[in-house]
Amino acid sequence: HESLAEHHIELAERYAAHNYHPLPVVVSAADGAWVTDVDGRRYLDCLAGYSALNFGHRHPKILAAAHSQLDRLTLTSRAFHHDQFGPFMQELAALAAPALASDEVMVLPMNTGAEAVETGLKLARKWGYEVKGVPDGEATIIVMSGNFHGRTTTIVSFSDDPDARDSYGPYTPGFKIVPYGDSAALAAAMDATTVAVLIEPIQGEAGVLVPPAEYLADVRRLCSEHGALFIADEIQSGLGRTGRTFACEHFGVKPDLMLLGKALGGGVVPVSAVVGSPDVLGVVKPGQHGSTFGGNPLACAVGLSVVRLLADGTYQARARELGALMHGRLQSLVGRGLHGVRGVGLWAGIDIDPALGTGREVCAALAERGVLAKDTHGSTIRLAPPLVIEPADLDWAIDQLVAVLAR
Ligand code: PLP
Repeated sequence: HESLAEHHIELAERYAAHNYHPLPVVVSAADGAWVTDVDGRRYLDCLAGYSALNFGHRHPKILAAAHSQLDRLTLTSRAFHHDQFGPFMQELAALAAPALASDEVMVLPMNTGAEAVETGLKLARKWGYEVKGVPDGEATIIVMSGNFHGRTTTIVSFSDDPDARDSYGPYTPGFKIVPYGDSAALAAAMDATTVAVLIEPIQGEAGVLVPPAEYLADVRRLCSEHGALFIADEIQSGLGRTGRTFACEHFGVKPDLMLLGKALGGGVVPVSAVVGSPDVLGVVKPGQHGSTFGGNPLACAVGLSVVRLLADGTYQARARELGALMHGRLQSLVGRGLHGVRGVGLWAGIDIDPALGTGREVCAALAERGVLAKDTHGSTIRLAPPLVIEPADLDWAIDQLVAVLAR
């Protein structure tokens, strides 16, 4: 007799494409930082939907916004206006404005992170031709080694991860990859055709890699000197995760465009956006870019509730305090099962001593002890619990890690 979980896993194996390799946990309910599986077991969620669940599962304010919107209006398409759109655009612009290079800020709403990235790339190229004056078809965009920006054919064209890229060609031209964190290499790669530098201020999928202290300031300076746009992909790093609203704020730099997603949808619906100056967002005219679902009423109501949660800094402060607790304990494990720990705020990449097993094996052992986390590359595990996690629960999760490392 198989368990309910085994039954669901068999269905997924048989009928769904195997483009993921999930841990054998079948979740059917969740609240805050905790999830419950189909057999009634509880787990502490220390992945938080790759940071899409920064405010936890089913945050009451986000759910209230979603419920009341479901009862009134869910979709209009952008063929018409609706009453959730303007307020969400206005308050998201206000949230992002202090972190951006321009005084005035506009928003272009999309759905998934990859769509926000694609939108940023399209805006940069169009801006490059129409404002900067790059000859048509010659625009280049500089990206970083180890980048992760999503899964579209253009985005994987400039990935250096063979799993993400191989066999998906022919690839979109117009991108140059430079080593992440190397200012001299970036300077050498920039020329008159450079319309943008696309960068994760902290690289998430690569293993929560924090760049050298001065690096992003160099990126900002080089972009300004060459008249190129600094595009910060804050899809994973933004919206409170690092203890600031945006990761760029830790480095004292203001990008021209920011790409937001994941937590912007409150863990309820996909919501993404490009935010930046009217000079850049203004290059797209009616009919030149869009999305059926981008900026839909349900997405806007949820996104607005997320922006309001971030407005007074409570969650950012919580991420700083809990992050200090988490990083303090993780640092003490270096040399005792961990080879390295990186990260900022409530976000850590930990390198497991390979002698203790692969990242996946350690995650499987953690799941058996009731903690959900996910390996990223090889022996690196990402810890990114919801910002609503209780300190005692976070402590307990690290106790479980200690126990697994001591096996
Ligand atoms: N950009 C970054 C930095 C990400 O971490 C991700 C997803 O992990 C994406 C873009 C793509 O987002 P989505 O999966 O919603 O397309």
